[in-house]
Amino acid sequence: MLRQACSAKHSTRKIKLNKVKAEVDTGGGFILDEEDCVNVIPTKIVEKPTPSLYVDEIDRLHCDECSQEFVESYLHSNFNAFVCDNCRDNKEKHKLISKTEAKTKFLLKDCDFDIREPALKYLVRKNPHYQFGEMKLYLESQINKRTLEVWGSEENLENEHERRAEEQEKRKNKRYQKKMKELRMNVRSSLYKHNLEGHQHNYGPESYDSDADEYTKECLSCGQKLNYEKM
Ligand SMILES: [Zn+2]
Ligand SMILES: [Zn+2]
Repeated sequence: MLRQACSAKHSTRKIKLNKVKAEVDTGGGFILDEEDCVNVIPTKIVEKPTPSLYVDEIDRLHCDECSQEFVESYLHSNFNAFVCDNCRDNKEKHKLISKTEAKTKFLLKDCDFDIREPALKYLVRKNPHYQFGEMKLYLESQINKRTLEVWGSEENLENEHERRAEEQEKRKNKRYQKKMKELRMNVRSSLYKHNLEGHQHNYGPESYDSDADEYTKECLSCGQKLNYEKM
């Protein structure tokens, strides 16, 4: 129990020195006891690391913005971006964009986020527009870069946007035309029915079929045929 508490304390205290710690633990072949944990680790490794070891073992990060070295930062730990906390600009340069917005704005597909190398990192946040939903937030600058990889150029993306808008317009038009046609058909058939009700047939000239000895006349409006004999 004591050992656990001790090592937990130990590990939170020196996250960045994992590699150094591992070497001390295993390479030396001894297991830390409580005393070691309190005394040896903080004094010998954390506070006075062997300079050469310390420098070699830690991945040194350089900020893309200010070129300063930094150990860890918000943008690096969350997005693998080489930007120190001092240079972080969450309003403009390093602002976040939701996946949904990135999809509609830049016409990206799921595979463009997750399958293409490198897979883009994201944060998960509660969706403010939907009580039970979550949303994935990406670094917009990384999305922009990915967009160019997918579409080749901004112009291509623009063209695709236009093409899709036109297609949508066409579909809308088609739907409208279809509706109008249906409407016309309905009106026509109801007019037709209406005409037949109480319709006074308007017969054309009568014709005589001598074989059947039968007379026929046809309504000029509805086409109804009337056969009759004459005595
Ligand atoms: Zn910086
Ligand atoms: Zn008729």
